[in-house]
Amino acid sequence: MSDFDDARAWMVERQIVRRGVRDDYVIAAMRRVPREAFVPPDLRDFAYDDTPLPIGGEQSISQPFIVAKMLAAAELQPGDRVLDIGTGSGYAAALAAEIAGRVDSIERDASLAESARERLQRLGYENVEVHVGDGTVGLAAHAPYNAIIAAAGGPHVPQALRAQLAPGGRLVMPVGSSLNHQRLVKIVRRGEHDYDEQTLCDVRFVPLVGDDGWPEPRGASRANSRPAPTPTLEVAIRDAAEPLPDIDSPEFAGFIDRFAERRVVLLGEATHGTSEFYRARAAITRRLVERHGFSMIAVEADWPDAAIIDRHVRARPMPVERPRPFCRFPAWMWRNTDFMGFVAWLRSHNAAHREREIRFYGLDIYSLSESLDAVLHYLDSVDPAAARIARARFACLSPWQKDLAVYGRAALSGGYAQCEEHVVAQLVDLLKSRLDYAQKDGECPLDAALNSRLVAIARHYYRAMYYGDPQSWNLRETHMFDTLRLALDRHGSQARLVVWAHNSHIGDASATQMGREQDELNLGELCRAHFGDAAALIGFGTHSGTVAAASEWGGPMEVKSVLPSLEGSVEFSMHGTGLARFLLDLRPGVHDAARERLRVPLLERFIGVIYRPETDRDCHYAQASLAGQFDAFVWFDRTSAVTALPVSADEKDSTAQTFPFGV
Ligand code: SAH
Repeated sequence: MSDFDDARAWMVERQIVRRGVRDDYVIAAMRRVPREAFVPPDLRDFAYDDTPLPIGGEQSISQPFIVAKMLAAAELQPGDRVLDIGTGSGYAAALAAEIAGRVDSIERDASLAESARERLQRLGYENVEVHVGDGTVGLAAHAPYNAIIAAAGGPHVPQALRAQLAPGGRLVMPVGSSLNHQRLVKIVRRGEHDYDEQTLCDVRFVPLVGDDGWPEPRGASRANSRPAPTPTLEVAIRDAAEPLPDIDSPEFAGFIDRFAERRVVLLGEATHGTSEFYRARAAITRRLVERHGFSMIAVEADWPDAAIIDRHVRARPMPVERPRPFCRFPAWMWRNTDFMGFVAWLRSHNAAHREREIRFYGLDIYSLSESLDAVLHYLDSVDPAAARIARARFACLSPWQKDLAVYGRAALSGGYAQCEEHVVAQLVDLLKSRLDYAQKDGECPLDAALNSRLVAIARHYYRAMYYGDPQSWNLRETHMFDTLRLALDRHGSQARLVVWAHNSHIGDASATQMGREQDELNLGELCRAHFGDAAALIGFGTHSGTVAAASEWGGPMEVKSVLPSLEGSVEFSMHGTGLARFLLDLRPGVHDAARERLRVPLLERFIGVIYRPETDRDCHYAQASLAGQFDAFVWFDRTSAVTALPVSADEKDSTAQTFPFGV
């Protein structure tokens, strides 16, 4: 059995069967058709990834799961006549040909059609004929069809296609008023003029361009701006929304009192560079500390860096080498004026309450940024092309982000996985020395077991960085959770903790596409499982404004415009309320009308340390059920970027007195 056979078997099991495709014909076909033969040679390593892949001409081969889902919905039977619209690579046509009697596949791009024809011939598919033409008008000469499937999304189902269905025939195609976001629709022809229609799920396909589809790309953008409001959701949100005063008002954080009895309050953020999210979390945390006895803060940052802040806020002596925390990419995440203000408050609070000092911890003990830096530096010296690709890949590191362009760039240099051994060796060294340092720190010794486990999983960690392997994401989340418990346990059963991390860590992953489809879990989900109602998960979101982010991993921080939220997204509905700031309490029994509506998965935006507005739609949205993810959600319609502090020791600035951020 070749590696590809193994990968294919695993893909079918994990991506197709586990996600509920039950059609035996489809499963058998997926097990047989070699997807690696349908992708460009340099992308073969990714052939069984859970993603579409570019095939040239701005087109893509569909994600395996979605092809399986469409074929199953089309209920293909042996002997059927099938019309496949949008041949592309020919992969879907080959799958259909494994099951059906005869397949006509139609492609508007003549060169794609030609290569698909050759490929299908070479692989021995004699029952497929590839035609060059406009699929929106079907193929009257060969009709009627028992099944029609379209791999491109149009504004509506073309009449010609309905007419070319045989009695009982099934048509499955993406339909939607937006170019990149559609509903997958299934139509069954019951009689001469009688069609059943149902929506299967939300999808994102390339546009169906033709006489009865979208116009040629140049003119297509107009169609994008057609509003498709969802008034009832907006109204439900507006009815439930509790308007909030300005963040600086003493009343702002009052809403958190309803969660004051919880043991762990987790505060999210929709980006890693928005001032309002930091200021709001600071105000909420102050209230939890001052009024409700919370005594620990843990953030999505490296343990050793956070340990320096912890010493500073408790006025403990610093190690002689005067470490400067948070100097590596993405430094602005913590080295910003809002966080500095919060640290100053913590220090003065602790000075005034020595008997009950607040502790500050970092949960992310992976030394993520430093390790990524090391990988990039190493690659810079041995293979600059691979380094460029690695930077691009890291930009989409988060499993919440998939960017086709990144796969595309892999074509620049084949075989960059060759560096793996060296890189892993580097990483292990690095982790060891960094963790040794933390281990020696008498104030905050790291748990030895965690430490050695970390080093042991360095390889996995590397794969997470390079390949986005979901199991590695789970390792990271589990480590964050283990560290959180370790910190809590140290402080006794009464200790209560506030956590600051990105929404992707905090919103219960089981209520998201990543959790459901890829078995990804996260800190919020683990906290719910462990603490039950004693954990509160609170998300934060925004419609537009500015954000601090980089364009690629390790790149300079830029202040970027946040594109207005995508129509159809949960943010778009919140924006539709017309309110500048509000709280949405999503606990059962509080606002059940809104809660029920927000249980339905919608697109939700995730902006990390990398934000590329040009890939906003494709790279930064995922499906999630907001009411399943969070106990409450805090909304700021317009937000602005954090103000970063200088990183370099040479940059003389006025922060000298603001140690630990100054030099
Ligand atoms: N099923 C393909 C996916 C191809 S992507 C695969 O498995 O590889 C969609 C394809 O639809 C693109 O190749 C695009 O060129 C084609 N397309 C778009 N509009 C079309 C139209 N009106 N008629 C035929 N093909 C079309």
